[in-house]
Amino acid sequence: MNTDKRTEIATLGEFGLIDHLTEPFVARNASLVKGPGDDAAVIDTGADDYTLLSTDMLLEGVDFDLTYFPLKHLGYKAVVVGCSDIYAMNGHPTAITVSIGVSAKLSVEDLDDLYSGIRAACDDYGIDLAGGDTRASVTGLVISISTVGRVAKEKVTYRSGAQLHDLICITSDLGAAYLGLKLLEREKIALGGVPNAQPRFEGYEYLLRRQLKPVARREVIMELEAQGIVPTSMIDLSDGLASELLHVCRQSKCGARIYLERIPIAREVHTLAEELHIDPVTAALNGGDDHELMFTVPLAMQDKVMQFGYGVEVIGHITEESMGAALVTPDGSNIALKAQGFHGN
Ligand code: ADP
Ligand code: MG
Repeated sequence: MNTDKRTEIATLGEFGLIDHLTEPFVARNASLVKGPGDDAAVIDTGADDYTLLSTDMLLEGVDFDLTYFPLKHLGYKAVVVGCSDIYAMNGHPTAITVSIGVSAKLSVEDLDDLYSGIRAACDDYGIDLAGGDTRASVTGLVISISTVGRVAKEKVTYRSGAQLHDLICITSDLGAAYLGLKLLEREKIALGGVPNAQPRFEGYEYLLRRQLKPVARREVIMELEAQGIVPTSMIDLSDGLASELLHVCRQSKCGARIYLERIPIAREVHTLAEELHIDPVTAALNGGDDHELMFTVPLAMQDKVMQFGYGVEVIGHITEESMGAALVTPDGSNIALKAQGFHGN
């Protein structure tokens, strides 16, 4: 441990910390087209297309709680998280490696469950298990998945390409995964120690599904391809809309206006948010885990993207950098967007 000087990590925040750690590295190989800072690294192997590489880690007690997160779902979700990062580069995943830190409380049958979820996601997204690593863990289950993909060179989409007046599009409603988590946490507390108790989930199946069985938006990437659209920028919404839009603004050197009444929020989110005294808009802006994509396209593409059959919504537009990023309320006032730290993947 370094004892000469101590800077608390909180003074930098998650993204400041990543910048701090990665900034001193200079790329040595011309093959690294894009290093740290986007949803996946972009590597030129000399083939016709680029190789994409993304890695994500899930920690028990931080990212999931095994008392209410079934292992099969956890395996499935870990793969979806990786695929979503590859789609966010406008590419397609092809293979994963899976590394696990296994605590003594898990049995072979538990790990079979975890891997049946991983297998189901590999089937759904057409990808292969390419390897991994297995270690004992003293701090609970750790799952780390690296995802490899490919993208045609002319289609690779970064966080940095948004242009003035572009439309900001998202691929589905937001906040449901976060409310799904709040519901699971509520039932865990309510049922703590009660034998044979039944959790109260009726009416909220959609929220649970969004938390426990998320979808990576492959069909949107395929639709963009079919329509001949290459977005100017794209990112996946793992950490929440506000934080991810700020990444796009920072890297594209632009500002943004998103409109409150255009942000799609499911009926179930409103209902449960009211029950739990949570602001549904805050859940939509800052709740992580949605794994929807946010992309920008030139204004002229509006009709085309609105015709996508997958609930693509135009929620705002790109502005001059000096205007910052803000949410516009129905009465016309602007609320500056703020990022949340250490959240999601
Ligand atoms: P995502 O939420 O899309 O998985 P992150 O916010 O975790 O992305 O990471 C943002 C970028 O920073 C990615 O390019 C990632 O590879 C990089 N990154 C994150 N943590 C580290 C680290 N410890 N060392 C090097 N690069 C990192
Ligand atoms: Mg991402």
